[in-house]
Amino acid sequence: MAKSIVIIGAGQAATQAANSLRQYGFNGKITMLGDEGIAPYQRPPLSKAYLMGEIEIARLKFRDDDQWERDGIDMRPNAGVANIDRAAKMVVTKSGEKIAYDNLIIATGSRVRKISCENSELKGIHYLRTLAQSDALKADLDKAKSIAIIGAGYIGLEVAAIARKKGLSVTVIELAPRVLARVATPIISQYFENLHASHGVNIMTNCALKAFGGKDKVQRVLLEDGREIAADVVLVGIGIVPNCEIAIDAGIICTNGIDVDENAGTNDANIYACGDCTNRQLELYGIRMRLESVHNAIEQAKLAAAHIMGAEPPKLDTPWFWSDQYDVKLQIAGLSNGATQHIVRGNIADNKFAVFHLNDDNRILAVDAINSPGEFLIGKKLVMGSAKIAPHIISNLDISIKELAALAVE
Ligand code: FAD
Repeated sequence: MAKSIVIIGAGQAATQAANSLRQYGFNGKITMLGDEGIAPYQRPPLSKAYLMGEIEIARLKFRDDDQWERDGIDMRPNAGVANIDRAAKMVVTKSGEKIAYDNLIIATGSRVRKISCENSELKGIHYLRTLAQSDALKADLDKAKSIAIIGAGYIGLEVAAIARKKGLSVTVIELAPRVLARVATPIISQYFENLHASHGVNIMTNCALKAFGGKDKVQRVLLEDGREIAADVVLVGIGIVPNCEIAIDAGIICTNGIDVDENAGTNDANIYACGDCTNRQLELYGIRMRLESVHNAIEQAKLAAAHIMGAEPPKLDTPWFWSDQYDVKLQIAGLSNGATQHIVRGNIADNKFAVFHLNDDNRILAVDAINSPGEFLIGKKLVMGSAKIAPHIISNLDISIKELAALAVE
């Protein structure tokens, strides 16, 4: 039985791993090594309520600063890890300290993908992953009149909504032909394009960025087609890169993230990995992929802790995600890749509907719910159960969502 467990990273997955280890009865030493200089906090509000100024830092933190010690967790936010010595079973911090482990959990998350073009280092060009970055963006938004957002993914669109609420003029520049192209189906993309347009956002799709312009700070965005967009502030939201270099250097197998098995285990029996830095198998869909979500971080952390403790693994849930933009809550259960039928339940114009994504056999692969928590919760269960249901039943609002669940065939 392990006596000392080291967790690299001090974010969502690391916090859950520490919590779950204690819940499964681990009473040895837990050392959590972070590199952000701050105790673990939630990231989702950084592009939502926190950026808007509606909640304080204290609400983001997973625990009060003194609670870590009381829970017997040696949480060290200034102890970035430089490398892992698997043979000696120790990690070496950037300051050269060596810390021995019986089991190691890598929960290093991901970092923003950076853009490289002329003037891409100008002041006023922001990225959004950390609390410090959210604070810097917020400070600039509060002074600015206009923002250009490069990338129409969830982070870009959430920031667009906040910037509009703060009264800025907002332009979103996207290379793909539609917003959320990597993560959502065309129906949902169209819905969000219309939603943002109705709030006055200028959405420019099929647009390639060429360079930024400005003297001491950014003043405009130059597009490949020659157009120029004036902007006091820029946010670049073009995706993330998993932090798996220390794992690669240590000989842990990584293919676009750290490869983990169904227990969040790596190719080293003493080392686990969880959260954004991993590449996992999704049995429900028969594919391996990286998931970038709170649910994934929590689920994998629980799996790792259970396996270390020899406990029954937690029941897996459908992958799920949410996004808040204006007064719209999008909740997504499952993955719609491979779906051939996209059945709308409800009225899109009412801002309250769900899209059920089915394959040719009427099996529900995913559900996107807009302001429809019932459809999301029941849809999530149906996806997990690989349930089948006829499209005309889904779209029939005379059948309640509970009745609909009862009519599904597993
Ligand atoms: P993180 O929470 O990023 O934690 C990893 C930590 O490890 C970081 O502190 C990092 O600095 C540290 N680290 C890295 N390398 C080292 C090292 N060598 N040594 C020590 N420490 C290291 N998900 C949702 O499901 N819904 C949402 O609405 C949503 N909104 C989001 C909004 C924003 C602005 C962002 C940035 C993310 C959002 N996410 C959302 C994604 C979600 O927050 C992440 O999937 C989740 O935080 C992943 O947890 P993690 O522990 O893997 O990584």
